[in-house]
Amino acid sequence: MTTAKEEDNPGAGNLSKMINTLTNICCRCGKVRVAVKTYQEVIGNSLVTTVLTTCPDHKCQVELDKQLAKEQKYRDELKVASEKRDLEAKKRKAEKQTEKN
Ligand SMILES: [Zn+2]
Repeated sequence: MTTAKEEDNPGAGNLSKMINTLTNICCRCGKVRVAVKTYQEVIGNSLVTTVLTTCPDHKCQVELDKQLAKEQKYRDELKVASEKRDLEAKKRKAEKQTEKN
């Protein structure tokens, strides 16, 4: 008869599993999202593991993708606008400096 080794350390495995589940719940339907892809990339000096998850409900995932695309577009527009502002501010600064000289 085999004794359950996990019981020697109760909770430890379950806790990480629980956190994993909690962070991977679909915000639209509340179902547990499934990991489809795991990839690692180096950001700065640390290795960051990103888990790509998808909703088991395909229709729900399609809606989520639409929402994400909309948000991404909005962020891109904000970024472009702020870059444009930065550029104009730099230009004005440069113009002021040339006026002084
Ligand atoms: Zn969902």
